[in-house]
Amino acid sequence: MAEKWDFEKHRYEPYSLPPFATIYENDMEKIVVCAECGKPMKYGTSYVSLAIHNFMGFGYAVCEECHRKELAAKYKEKTKGQ
Ligand SMILES: [Zn+2]
Repeated sequence: MAEKWDFEKHRYEPYSLPPFATIYENDMEKIVVCAECGKPMKYGTSYVSLAIHNFMGFGYAVCEECHRKELAAKYKEKTKGQ
């Protein structure tokens, strides 16, 4: 069971992970999929999601593109009203 942080609503929403989404792998060469867009990638090139977390708050692996989108969403929220 995963949850996704909504940067605008400031709360977690239930999130269905794509198959083969992962939090941690020993093998950096292993092909996993981005927890956000489902794109296959090498685990070693993935980023830790800022939004998609498991029940303990650990971030799932996401691709660079989704990582940038999360950063943008987070930054936008932080600078809101300034
Ligand atoms: Zn992605």
